Amino acid sequence: MDTNYYKNNLLNRFLYYVSFDTQSKPNAKSSPSSIGQMKLAKYLQKELIDLGLQKVEVNKHSVVTAYLPSNRPALSHTIGFIAHLDTSPECSGKNVKPEVIENYRGGDIALGIGEEFISPVYYPFMHQLIGKTLIVTDGNTLLGADNKAGIAEIMTALEIIQKEKLPHCNIRIAFTPDEEIGLGMQYFPLADFPCDWAYTIDGGEVGELEYENFNAATAKVYFSGRSIHTGYAKDKMVNALTLACDFHQGFPKDEVPEKTEGKEGFFHLEHFAGDIEKAELHYLIRDFDLKSFDQRKQFVLDWTAKFNAEKGLKIPVECVIYESYKNMYEVVQQTPQAISIAEKAMDLCGINVIHKPIRGGTDGAFLSEKGLPCPNIFTGGYNFHSKHELISLEGMEKAVEVITEIVKFKKM
Ligand SMILES: [Zn+2]
Repeated sequence: MDTNYYKNNLLNRFLYYVSFDTQSKPNAKSSPSSIGQMKLAKYLQKELIDLGLQKVEVNKHSVVTAYLPSNRPALSHTIGFIAHLDTSPECSGKNVKPEVIENYRGGDIALGIGEEFISPVYYPFMHQLIGKTLIVTDGNTLLGADNKAGIAEIMTALEIIQKEKLPHCNIRIAFTPDEEIGLGMQYFPLADFPCDWAYTIDGGEVGELEYENFNAATAKVYFSGRSIHTGYAKDKMVNALTLACDFHQGFPKDEVPEKTEGKEGFFHLEHFAGDIEKAELHYLIRDFDLKSFDQRKQFVLDWTAKFNAEKGLKIPVECVIYESYKNMYEVVQQTPQAISIAEKAMDLCGINVIHKPIRGGTDGAFLSEKGLPCPNIFTGGYNFHSKHELISLEGMEKAVEVITEIVKFKKM
């Protein structure tokens, strides 16, 4: 196998994909939120057809799907691989001008004309990348490794599987829009994507294997007041803003995102708006453990009831809880091979597996909740959503290798 040939193809694919401006637009009502995502989807459709995949389709929401039937009778199960087309709205993804640094010598890297730089002083992980080929930005945009590295890795794995005639199970591919704005999964054709399990290739450093994420809900709390001229307000005015401030004092002070890490949950006051007559607070509720997640929701409801009883308000405070997403582990643990096969594949590739709980949600969490277990695998990238985003070509090669190994294992 000519590994240099595939390494070059991997690099060229990646560099070409990041030339598409696929930034998603916040507050969009439907997918794709930007035309660039459809352009990239159409291009990938052509490439998948050229690679010999079947049932290659792009729906009107820019979801690309494709199928590669197994070439061994013993490998009759189906594994899906998923990556997203869009880039983050947090940083421009237009006119990305990647720079390739061969044999990184260590030390600072000046980006573009040098107004921005990345340094191992701020990013100690850069020490591990000495000697590698790095791809960085020119300091004006993000790179788009999140998640075009995932797409390039899946595509290159398919190319190797096909050209080298490697043994593989049934494979399903999906490239999806608008992951960054949490919209794309609404349009995912799950019924046409039957898999035993799937992986998103959307993680960070080499070795990351993620299958636990937050349970998430939002509590919206509404306060009603009574406005009276301040000169005559005594015993008459009810200030909704003051009520909201008092209400917030009832929350545990240390259970907030800025004071928690790892598997600790929190309440996060993310929105506070109002005037004398009306006010509202929005809290994000997050916890890995389902039981303590339920307790957190109950806490907000109980505190609302207690607050109402204490204040004796004419119009009581109202609290509504909206569910967001669930910890995928609840579903993934029912298909332990989704984890064990990925671990074995990484082991074969000489990679140390890094288990990290995701302090957020992923498209895989959404799919898991719908019944398709979907852990997340590394891409090899760092500093996503930023001008300082970078990736190593060798890390990307590792992801390709892991994919080609995963599809070789028999399902028990
Ligand atoms: Zn991503």
